[in-house]
Amino acid sequence: MKHKVMLVEDEEALALLLKYNLEKEGYDVLWVAKGSKALPEIEKNLPSVIILDWMLPEISGVEICKMIRNNPDIKTTPVIMLTAKGEEEDKIKGLSAGADDYVTKPFSIPELMARVKTQLRRAPEPKDEKDIVFEDIRMDLVEKKVYRGENYIHLGPTEFRLLKMLMETPGKVFSREYLLKNVWGDNIYVESRTVDVHIRRLRKSLNEFGPDYIRTVRATGYALDKNPVAENE
Ligand code: CA
Repeated sequence: MKHKVMLVEDEEALALLLKYNLEKEGYDVLWVAKGSKALPEIEKNLPSVIILDWMLPEISGVEICKMIRNNPDIKTTPVIMLTAKGEEEDKIKGLSAGADDYVTKPFSIPELMARVKTQLRRAPEPKDEKDIVFEDIRMDLVEKKVYRGENYIHLGPTEFRLLKMLMETPGKVFSREYLLKNVWGDNIYVESRTVDVHIRRLRKSLNEFGPDYIRTVRATGYALDKNPVAENE
């Protein structure tokens, strides 16, 4: 798996130069030019390291850095702050906002690449998203196959997507509306009862080789649980 580098920089020429060089180093690069776009993209893509420009329109790099540090999902992501300011005071401000490193413009490309490498050394290896596992159920996302213990389970494409959604967040109760929107898509009209039909099929296939881990939550929807309680159908 490649490390993802998030680049938040409003100067297009510089951003493209950095993107080119980071890709040459073998990273996946996501570039955002607007401060307001940075946080949602970071939350969505969970990069291994963030290169963050100080001077950005709308929200400054310092503000974004503080928001990153206050967000439990992304707070440990290393941040390298880029800035035109060379003042000692600004450096302190940047570091106290939670930046891990600080590079003053103009900088040399090899210097920045070295700094990125240093930060990545302490970043966790990117997760291999080949498999999702819950108890004895394993989904191979590359081969699109499901196993329960040693047994291969044949699922239709809708059941596969349903199970994937449930397995990605075990214990979470998904409403029928949410499942319809996210498994079937926005533009398809299906009755919410359709969800029940596919859950029934999914249960039938899965439960052939083990206990029922799908919990029916009355008047709400479904969740994946190790100990489904009395509410089951
Ligand atoms: Ca800038």
